[in-house]
This record gives sequence, C-alpha cells and structure tokens, in this order.
Amino acid sequence: MTSVVIVGGGPGGYEAALVARQLGADVTLIDRDGPGGSAVLTDCVPSKALIATANVITAAATSAGLGVLIDGRTPDPSLVSVDLAAVNRRILGLVRAQSDDIRDRLLHEGVVLVQGRGRIGVDGNVVATRSDGSQQTLPADAVLLATGARPRVLPDALPDGERILTWEQVYDLDEVPERLIVVGSGVTGAEFAGAYHALGSRVVLISSREHVLPGEDPDAARVLEDVYARRGLEVLGSSRAAAARRTDDGVTVTLTSGQVVHGSHVLMAVGSLPNTDDLGLAAAGIETDGGGFIRVDRVSRTTRRGVYAAGDCTGVLMLASVAAMQGRIAMWHALGDAVTPLELTTVSSTVFTNPEIATVGLTQRDLDAGTFRGDVVIVPLAPNARAKMEEQHDGFVKLFCRRGSRIVAGAVIVGPHASELIHPLTIAVEQRLTVDQLASTFTVYPSLSGSIAESARRLHIASD
Ligand SMILES: Cc1cc2nc3c(=O)[nH]c(=O)nc-3n(C[C@H](O)[C@H](O)[C@H](O)COP(=O)(O)OP(=O)(O)OC[C@H]3O[C@@H](n4cnc5c(N)ncnc54)[C@H](O)[C@@H]3O)c2cc1C
Repeated sequence: MTSVVIVGGGPGGYEAALVARQLGADVTLIDRDGPGGSAVLTDCVPSKALIATANVITAAATSAGLGVLIDGRTPDPSLVSVDLAAVNRRILGLVRAQSDDIRDRLLHEGVVLVQGRGRIGVDGNVVATRSDGSQQTLPADAVLLATGARPRVLPDALPDGERILTWEQVYDLDEVPERLIVVGSGVTGAEFAGAYHALGSRVVLISSREHVLPGEDPDAARVLEDVYARRGLEVLGSSRAAAARRTDDGVTVTLTSGQVVHGSHVLMAVGSLPNTDDLGLAAAGIETDGGGFIRVDRVSRTTRRGVYAAGDCTGVLMLASVAAMQGRIAMWHALGDAVTPLELTTVSSTVFTNPEIATVGLTQRDLDAGTFRGDVVIVPLAPNARAKMEEQHDGFVKLFCRRGSRIVAGAVIVGPHASELIHPLTIAVEQRLTVDQLASTFTVYPSLSGSIAESARRLHIASD
C-alpha cells in the first residue's frame, strides 16, 4: 500500500487526506493545532461567525424602513447591541464543533492523526515531534506539506493579545472595543472593520492605499467606501502605520506621516507569512521563493520528487477553497488518478463585508490592460424588486463577456448573499457558457438572481 504523510490539517491537508484514503493509500496526518487548521480554528470560520452576528445587528438597526417596531417604537439603532462575551463563546464553541466534525470524518475514513509538529528529513521521510517531545519517523512514498500561514506582525506593533491584536486574538475580548483602529484595508481589514462597526465600535480603518480593497474590483470597492462613509466608519486613506503602542487606557497608532491616531484597541491586518521556517525545506532540496512560500507547479509538485505542497504555504492564492483543491490535485497526481492542473481563472471568492463582494474570472483590470477583448455591463441592484422588498439599495451585478464568442469571462456581484449568488456565474465561466445561455435560463421572480439574467440579456447582440 502507498503511504502518504501530510503535514498540516487545514483544508489543504485534510481534504487531501480524504482523497488519499479514497484512492486506497495509507494516510497519516500531523497537525500541531487541531483538525481544520487555521481556516477552522482562527481564520475563516470564526470571522464569518462574527460577521453573522454583525449582519443581524445591521438588519435590526435598519429594520425601521420595513415598518418594524421594537417595544412599540421605531427601532433606535443605538439601542441594538451585543454581549460580546456571549458572541465569542458561541464562536469558539462552533469552531471546536467544526474541528471535531472534521476529526471524526478523518478517523472514520481511516486516517491516522498525530498531534505534533512535522518536518521533512533529508531522506524525504517525515519526522513528527509530539507535544511531549517524543519523536517518530514516518516513512512516506508521498508527502504533502500544507502548513498554512500566520499573521504578519510589525516589529513596532507587537501584539499583546489585549489591546494590540491579531485576527487570531479577537475572540478573547469580553467587551466591544470602544474605538477600534484597524490597520490594513485588504480583505481581512475591511471585513473586521465593518463587523466591529456593526457591533458598536467606533472604527477607524487605516489604508496604505488611496482606496480600500485595492485588490478588488474598483466599482465594488467604491460601493463599500460609500456604504462605510454613510454608516460613519472612518477611513484614513493613503496612510501607513509605523508603530502601535499601549497607553494607560488604550492604544496609539503612529503613521509614517507623524500623525497619531488614538483608540481603545488596534487590530493589525497587514498580511500573512508562510509557516515554512522549521520544515527542513532547504536541506531536503525544496525551493521557496523570496517570501518563504514553497514553489509548486499546477499539480502541486515541489522541486523534490514525491513531495507536494498545498495551500497558504505556497502563496498561490490564499483561499481555503484553493488550498483544498491544491491538496486534492496533489493526491490525484501522486496516486495516479485522473488529474486536471489547477486553473485559477475559475476560482470564485468573496469579501464578507456588508454588502458582500463576490468575484469570479477575468476582471476589470484584465479588460483595461487588454488581457482579453470583451464587453462589460453593470446592472445596479436598486431597481430589482426583491432588493426593494428587502430595503437593499447598494450593489450591482457586473458581467464581462468575450467579444465575438459572447462567452462569460468574469463577474462581480456586490450585494446581500453575493457569496451564494456567484455560483451560477462560476459555472458559466468554468463551463464556458455564453451570455445568451445564461440569459435564457429561468430565474425565480422576484429574486436577486434575476439581475444576473438581466445583465446577460444586456450583453446580447442581435443576429444580423
Ligand atoms: C481572518 C481570515 C479570514 C479568512 N476567511 C476566508 C474565507 O472566508 N474564505 C476563504 O476561502 N479563505 C479565507 N481565509 C483564508 C484561509 O483561511 C486560508 O486560505 C486557509 O486557511 C488555507 O488553508 P491551509 O490548509 O493552507 O492552511 P491552514 O488552514 O493555515 O492550516 C495549516 C495547519 O498546519 C499547521 N501547521 C503548521 N506548521 C506545522 C508543522 N510544522 N507541523 C504540523 N502542523 C503544522 C497549523 O497549525 C494549521 O493547523 C481567511 C483568512 C483569514 C486570515
């Protein structure tokens, strides 16, 4: 039987373990923190659970427009609040439950779980060090490294877990920060800024770029900036944080301009570093790039034969869904099953702000740069009947198609449940459907997905 050893139990590692068992391999998975990895324990799952509470607060606070009364009166947004200790207890409970469910599934499928640290030896086998210090060498025909990433910290803004926080530490807070400074306006910073603002913090978001979400569609980022401004969330654009310090009753963040921003807490969201330092990579002949990310090809092979890598430690695209697919691809390849190399142009992703921003395929940047020749249309959600019923005024469907073939090339959806609405468009991009095929598919009336069909109709070109 082929033996597979996997280091790291996040989506890259555990999804690979399930595939390897399905293909009949003998599988050992080593993880130091618990099944599910950072995705389940500290990153995706807890942050989206926090956002679920924040969204209920936003809905309650804005429900006056739908005629809702609370205690016989028009709801006063300032009277809606949360018990953050209870919110965080719930989040940590569901995180543990999710990790346990993954552990049960892995054990049920016959995966051997080892709690400890793994590193690769020069002979290509894996050495596991358990928490009690005992070591075990695990012979392997194929190895998968899926050790993920950790928050980057600035030397002059070291987290203390109380006032200066990483995104992993916020679930220990018992009270909503009075004034939260969020450093970093990428996806993580934008999500937490919006969530804590909804939960009752006064939030200032420090963005080193002129606009928030510099990596996203510019029209989408503009909608979010408008919504944040309307809600009173302060954004400091073109501002770079140099240092964060504790004061007697809070924190100060000093910007490179010399300006000092005062708050009760600061959340540092300035990117991630790969967990690749202690893996024995160089000695084993496994190359990394300048940032320490493991170099892989599109079937997850590293530069050493028989050793694969998946997920955030490769830096290919830091998403749980991509980590999982890289891990599965690695096992399909290693164990001789049919395999299609990783294709990033069909990855869908979401920024879980309120409204959500979901994206798939080619982008406005690609269109502007001439990467493809195409047409684009933007259909605002405001005229959509369902959006009106739900008092949702912000957002749009933006659709790109290739000129000539009219094949759907990409899409952006900004609005409620965009993370769910993007799926039909992901199928359209993946399956190379034309705008006419998308337009001729029935949608429910009334529905937000009606705006997807509408955008496709607007890209129709009458035949000669
Ligand atoms: C705040 C936040 C929110 C996010 N939300 C989303 C989202 O909504 N959707 C999405 O798709 N992505 C999201 N992401 C990204 C997502 O979390 C990552 O892409 C995903 O976790 C990567 O999975 P992975 O398997 O590579 O690594 P991880 O999930 O990081 O798991 C790696 C595991 O390996 C363990 N490990 C490390 N070194 C060793 C070692 N030497 N020996 C043994 N074990 C080791 C770690 O302890 C960890 O348990 C979010 C990220 C952040 C920071």
